[in-house]
Amino acid sequence: MRYISTRGQSRPVTAAEALLTGLAPDGGLYLPEEFPESAALNPFTAPSLTYRQLAGRILTMFLSDYTRAELEECISQAYGSNFATPAITPVTMVDEKLGFLELWHGPTCAFKDLALQLLPHLLTAAARKMQFDREIVLLVATSGDTGKAALEGFKDVPGTRVIVFYPEDGVSTVQKRQMITQEGTNTYVVGVTGNFDQAQAGVKALFTNEAFQRELAAAGKTFSSANSINWGRLVPQLVYYFKAWFDLCQNHGLAPGETFNVVVPTGNFGNILAAYYGKKLGLPLHKLICASNRNNVLTEFIQTGVYNRNRQFYQTLSPSMDILVSSNLERLLYDLVGADPAPVRAYMDQLQRQGSYQLTAAQKERLQKEFWAGFADEAETTAAIKSVYERYQYLLDPHTAVGYKVYRDYLEATGDDRPTIIASTASPFKFNQGVAQAVLGPEAAAVADEFALMEKLSAVTGVAMPAVLAGLRDKPVRHQQVIAPAAMEETVRTILGL
Ligand SMILES: *Cc1c(COP(=O)(O)O)cnc(C)c1O
Repeated sequence: MRYISTRGQSRPVTAAEALLTGLAPDGGLYLPEEFPESAALNPFTAPSLTYRQLAGRILTMFLSDYTRAELEECISQAYGSNFATPAITPVTMVDEKLGFLELWHGPTCAFKDLALQLLPHLLTAAARKMQFDREIVLLVATSGDTGKAALEGFKDVPGTRVIVFYPEDGVSTVQKRQMITQEGTNTYVVGVTGNFDQAQAGVKALFTNEAFQRELAAAGKTFSSANSINWGRLVPQLVYYFKAWFDLCQNHGLAPGETFNVVVPTGNFGNILAAYYGKKLGLPLHKLICASNRNNVLTEFIQTGVYNRNRQFYQTLSPSMDILVSSNLERLLYDLVGADPAPVRAYMDQLQRQGSYQLTAAQKERLQKEFWAGFADEAETTAAIKSVYERYQYLLDPHTAVGYKVYRDYLEATGDDRPTIIASTASPFKFNQGVAQAVLGPEAAAVADEFALMEKLSAVTGVAMPAVLAGLRDKPVRHQQVIAPAAMEETVRTILGL
């Protein structure tokens, strides 16, 4: 299968090349030329597939230039004892019609592990196939979850190095602790005395610095990005939506021909796009429900057809969704405009120039046929955590709580009470503060030590902490460096010995 650019001005490439380059040269995102509906992905004809087997079937369809053996090797390295449960992504039903698809049993306790435990292996296999013998240097600016997931994914993977910049005061206590205690001989973690945008700008400046690229190439190295626009991050995310369907059929009575809804807490539009692509492959989804926090640019887009990033940016309890430009949306746009790169280019150009664009009535109709959208503000997020805990004794992290609030809105607005799966994107203990405030109340949550608070939350609720988070307290700090934003290039030079 070949990959084409959403902007139509780059030549089609193989999967290996799409993964290695990330972004197409014309600035567009790579898309598979087709989405073959597959009988191999059906719980009624192939009922006993494990997570790994499902991953094998899906990856084989999309990464057709990889051999079966290559894919199996990658998959077995990605989804094993590094996950806390053999189910990898279990579904917990809290009542007959509502389940949470738990995507946080991996090493960093957020859903990005499902893609980033696999991507390093896919990338190094792609490099081997293309006889590309430079060292791959992953350069990441993170607001929290991506950086840690990339570090864990690339840790000690031969032929790679990973350098992560995080805003010193802009990540949660647990996230920071996760990063500064990172193990591995090829991992580098650097705090920046600035905000996420400054760290991101520094990384972008390095990516676009041609003189630096030449120097890097001369030293036998190349930069790569683990950004969520890489097709190699998207395709692994299809697997768990199929796994959820299998689970609903086998354990919760979903019959052949019956459909279900998914609710996805959304930021960069990667996770929900994977569900949409699943539907193209035959996943029986009714509505894709897009849940945003106070940065509700996608809610407005889906409700009105107007994408407008000219608005106030808010820092929220669900920081991984604090995004105003959802880069993966470009792939959906390509479908909405009728698989035509010219209008995609025009919309992206308008977004760049004036910060907004508007769909035609027909395009909006197509969008609304598949998607429904809503959002939760801060108080509603906290209330959702509290209400789900009281009702079901089940703990939600703030991102997932946004999803639950929007699910309730959807039920009320439409009366559609068919089975629904909410993507649970992080462990509640990773966003301990917000969850403890909601469940224990502000007074009881006023515990200065983050780990003591985690224990308290666990003791009061009877919900076990993930072992990888509990173990963080005693891990030695391995990365102490903190720099000014202006020193990022110099720091990368030092790390790479340039
Ligand atoms: C990244 C992230 C999201 C948003 O996912 P997108 O694919 O960017 O829409 C939601 N929740 C958590 C916990 C995340 O880390």
